[in-house]
Amino acid sequence: MKPIITYSLRPDAADSDEYYRTIAAFADEWLAQSIPQVQDLVAGFREYHLQRSGADLSEAEYTFELLALGVLLREHGREARRMPAWLERWMPRLIALQAKSARTENAFKSLRGWLGWIAGRGYDGGKSQDDVQQLIRWFRANDETTKGKRFESWHGYFLSGGELFLQEAVSKCLTLADAFAISSRERLGKYTPNVGHFLSTEAPRYRHRYDAGFIARTRIEYHLGMLGTEILNQAYRQRFLATRQKMVILPPCMCAPAEKCQAVETPFGAKCQACTPGCRVNQITKLGEKRGFHVTIIPDDVKVFRSGKGTESIGLVGVSCALTNWNGGWQTGELGIPAQGLLLDYVGCKFHWDKEGIPTDTNLKKLQEILGN
Ligand code: SF4
Ligand code: SF4
Repeated sequence: MKPIITYSLRPDAADSDEYYRTIAAFADEWLAQSIPQVQDLVAGFREYHLQRSGADLSEAEYTFELLALGVLLREHGREARRMPAWLERWMPRLIALQAKSARTENAFKSLRGWLGWIAGRGYDGGKSQDDVQQLIRWFRANDETTKGKRFESWHGYFLSGGELFLQEAVSKCLTLADAFAISSRERLGKYTPNVGHFLSTEAPRYRHRYDAGFIARTRIEYHLGMLGTEILNQAYRQRFLATRQKMVILPPCMCAPAEKCQAVETPFGAKCQACTPGCRVNQITKLGEKRGFHVTIIPDDVKVFRSGKGTESIGLVGVSCALTNWNGGWQTGELGIPAQGLLLDYVGCKFHWDKEGIPTDTNLKKLQEILGN
């Protein structure tokens, strides 16, 4: 049995089959209950959004976006209000410099970690009139541009109705989030048993690191990620199935042992060289050869597909952990790539979670079901 660092989709079983039944049922229940509560807001936004030639989404996706806004305001609103203006100016520059060279990457990560820590200690911006705007700025400073962009459209719509409408809309999002905190804890809490322990014992040691905010995500954010992956999969399903080719993107944390990995870099990510028979990536690659799908290893799901050229004929399956997967769904959606998300059964990479790195795993049965095999 692998140690549970934060979450596990197989808390008391050998596989995560039961989790997939639970999350499907929970998503149906949550949508049935929540769609009527924000129907007016969704209908108004849809009209506003389509007039500005935005792509239309399903009612379930819009409702989930309102929940995500509520949860993120609930969990990070205070932090966002406290963010000094200099941090917002400097962080995007450091992130851009970090991406330029592998040689200096760690130096910039370290600088980001210290600046984030200093910013969190000092300034208190007090009460903000517009918490959504502040949260969007905070996303920009934290390399979360996809979320920022997504909420900018909602913010524009809220503002178009005036100050009172903005406050009412925010209050509805927070109400959704409060109810979700309770219902998701009841239904999904068994999969996130160690998040609280990790936050109180391990997270403080990360306080000067660039990923201090990422690893300090709360339990409700894991549950949000689980629901998000499920809802986005339903929304993109038909377009994904209609694609001619399928590609599975695996994260490097699945390689075993990662430090001896012989995978060879290609323009579409790293290709497994079958050096270790027990390695999950190797097994999935072999399955792909038999069933006709490609497999690649990419640390950041979609950067490689940023050009968007020819990607409409490729259906992607992005495998990653519960905190990152739904955001990958928004990113691929933005690029027009039909994608499906599949969660790692637990986290374990040495970039963020464990000094040595624990090889991660996913549900092969679910993978084949997603691929339509
Ligand atoms: S089997 Fe493939 S993915 Fe696994 S360690 Fe070897 S080269 Fe890397
Ligand atoms: S554990 Fe999560 S964050 Fe770490 S490499 Fe794997 S998918 Fe990425």
